[in-house]
Amino acid sequence: MADSPASVFDDPRFHAFSKTGFQCSCGERHVGLFPLHMHLPKGWPGEAVYEPNSAIRMDGNFLSYDFSVLEGKYYAMRMRLPVAMHGVGPMVFMYTVWAGMNRPDFEAYVQATLNKTMDKNVKAPARLANNISGFKPTSGLMGTAFQQEDGGYPLLLLHGAQDANDPNHQLLAEQRQGISFDRVLELFSEYGHDMRAAAGA
Ligand SMILES: [Zn+2]
Repeated sequence: MADSPASVFDDPRFHAFSKTGFQCSCGERHVGLFPLHMHLPKGWPGEAVYEPNSAIRMDGNFLSYDFSVLEGKYYAMRMRLPVAMHGVGPMVFMYTVWAGMNRPDFEAYVQATLNKTMDKNVKAPARLANNISGFKPTSGLMGTAFQQEDGGYPLLLLHGAQDANDPNHQLLAEQRQGISFDRVLELFSEYGHDMRAAAGA
């Protein structure tokens, strides 16, 4: 770890990963970064059985791949949670996560998703609703959800020490300051994608 180059871009393993890929413990060979998806919001009672997004209901329990309503009073949707990498500019390590929102914001984001009318000027408070492996508990961290116009999920950027976020939480620091390629490999391995042997890490 100590010899990780300051920039991921100066790490020859990153270029090998992007070009020819690494054999993975899951049996596949991965070429380049791919997102890690959280299947369910924390507290969802049951399996990940998804209805279509368009069937959204605001009462009782509803779950689609992108939206969830629990007991008609807790609302969450799928968002992108990017983690910067040292020196790689806009390229990021990406999770898709669930984040809770208040009802008016949730309804507006659902409509924008269904109607494909996301607007980059729209943002709303959102609370991370997953514990991401490789960190101390992350559920409950507060952030802002920015709508995107690229056809993808809103971007969730976590706040600093406001809103009772622990200012020393590693995820807050890493989302902003970035991670090394060794940390990228470690975070992949937390979700069953261990490529460290192939990478010579
Ligand atoms: Zn894998």
